[in-house]
Amino acid sequence: MDKKIEIIVNARTTDEAAKVVLEKAIEEGIETVWDRLEAQQPQCGFGQLGMCCNRCAMGPCRISPFDDAGPTRGVCGADVDLIAARNLLDDLLVGAASHSDHGREVVEVFLETAEGKSQGYKILDETKLNAIADEYGIDTKGKSKEAVAKEVALAIFEEFGTVKNSIQFAESRPPEKTKETWKKAGIVPRSVDREIVEAAHRVHMGVDSDYVNILLHALRTSLSDGWGGSMMATDISDVLFGTPKPVSSYVNLGVLKPDMVNIVLHGHNPVLSEMVVKASREKDLVDYAKKMGAKGINLVGMCCTGNEVLMRQGVPIAGNMLNQELAIATGAVEVMLIDYQCIFPSITKTAGCYHTKVVSTSEKAKFPGAIHKEFHPGNAFDTAKEIVKLAVENFPNRNPDRVKIPNNPMKLMAGFSVEAITSALGGTLQPLIDVIASGKIRGAAGIVGCNNPKIKQDYNHIVLTKELIKRNILVLETGCAAIASGKAGLLVPEAAELAGDGLKEVAQSLGIPPVLHMGSCVDCSRILVIAAKLAKALNVGIADLPIAGAAPEWYSQKAISIGAYFVASGVYTVLGLPPKIFGSPNVVQLLTEGVEGVVGGKFAVEPDPVRQAELMAAHIEKKRKALGI
Ligand code: SF4
Ligand code: SF4
Repeated sequence: MDKKIEIIVNARTTDEAAKVVLEKAIEEGIETVWDRLEAQQPQCGFGQLGMCCNRCAMGPCRISPFDDAGPTRGVCGADVDLIAARNLLDDLLVGAASHSDHGREVVEVFLETAEGKSQGYKILDETKLNAIADEYGIDTKGKSKEAVAKEVALAIFEEFGTVKNSIQFAESRPPEKTKETWKKAGIVPRSVDREIVEAAHRVHMGVDSDYVNILLHALRTSLSDGWGGSMMATDISDVLFGTPKPVSSYVNLGVLKPDMVNIVLHGHNPVLSEMVVKASREKDLVDYAKKMGAKGINLVGMCCTGNEVLMRQGVPIAGNMLNQELAIATGAVEVMLIDYQCIFPSITKTAGCYHTKVVSTSEKAKFPGAIHKEFHPGNAFDTAKEIVKLAVENFPNRNPDRVKIPNNPMKLMAGFSVEAITSALGGTLQPLIDVIASGKIRGAAGIVGCNNPKIKQDYNHIVLTKELIKRNILVLETGCAAIASGKAGLLVPEAAELAGDGLKEVAQSLGIPPVLHMGSCVDCSRILVIAAKLAKALNVGIADLPIAGAAPEWYSQKAISIGAYFVASGVYTVLGLPPKIFGSPNVVQLLTEGVEGVVGGKFAVEPDPVRQAELMAAHIEKKRKALGI
């Protein structure tokens, strides 16, 4: 590798497979996210500190960072505390809306399936369906699974509106003590849409002008995501497509195949991708691929759609957020199928440099230059087959001289739903409680969230994860964090060798990795569920558990909502990049200190992953001491 390119590549990513393709992209003059970040330098300091507001036509306004010079209020009179808090709530509500709208779409498919109106879908997990029906007080006796599903779907739709005025999962799942703190703070979520819409109302000029009140509503909105929209997305996806069980597969850009039709499934929602998995196995399409000169059809995932089909179908995964352009730059992708969220708007420009066709599928996420094949539950399987056929027909357009696929995909194990963890432990979480109580495992950490080109790809995720398992802390991961660990070889049972003696012994005796892949971003709700179950078993609140959370490379508004619902549920949560609030010492103080007295959890911001691990481990030890273990 050219020395100059080698320096650039090593500064951008730790992912060895990505380095190979990034070098190719640089040589071919393909623009990537890192180039665009460079072109944006220097980024605006007012924006980074959350000291500017562009909310209304009297603005934009910015507050001076200096005490003795420049304006201290916007044109409307808002001070820096209000501006920073309002901006944060604005970001958070977008994140909560994204998860929840995804959840609603899954429930829509579920209802159409129950009514026999969808194409290709079935209810695969009747046990989970009945358990949810039970939570909702729906009598299942003598009813077909479709009849039960219809009642459950309609009951869940109520959670989005304002008639019921409460969210069932936020009532039946958290421990009493956690719910008490929410009641006392006045942040019990009332409905998914209500909290999000109210948040959008509150950030309008001249509505909520008290930063404390705004931040409390931010917590409530996030709870309507974590215990509402996201949890519904997870649970109903499980009912429709099956609750994940441990599954082995492969990860990194090396999962693309030089002699096969490659289709990348990118985005977040599994509803169409599950059908594409089915379609890609249809004999007539496989035969067609062979007729076109390929050995077969190779589906791979990307980001959280990738996580969804990995968890349930064992589909290999090509990478996380910063790998999306590089997958195309291998020159070996016939179709990149996109649904929504975390897809670079420039992806069609990247694809235009190769033979790759980008196929968009959601009416709410169109990309200029993409082929649009609109997905509806009623035509799902036909649409999926059409897309696979398009990919097959694009195979002869591939230029073999421009193909470079890295070798050595990494093996991984995924599929650790709460049900799978419980079953690996023999049907109850008690063995986990016992090893935590004995000190073999000191506690658990949830590492979640994204990549961000401001941080060398996967560096924080991997260093933090290794530091935690070394300290005998079991790590639960979702989203791009889990993919990072997979690429680094941490999601295989052999990785137990890197853990401290106690965790190593437990992982080896169960044959599991010390880092458990629990799914996509919406599956952070699985982490809430397991925390709630542990707290209930111990008769304490979630805030009393020896657990911590981290989003070491986050970029997305969804990550703000996830971080906030972890904190609101009582979890100490470390962010690897600062949210845009540091222009307001009051907002920072409230979120990193004051909020602990209200909900038991709080944020910390720490860029160094070793220090992140130290902070989390210290918190876990503090909680162990308080529990007397
Ligand atoms: S809401 Fe206030 S601070 Fe924001 S742009 Fe309008 S006038 Fe400026
Ligand atoms: S973890 Fe972040 S970047 Fe990755 S898919 Fe989820 S929201 Fe997008």
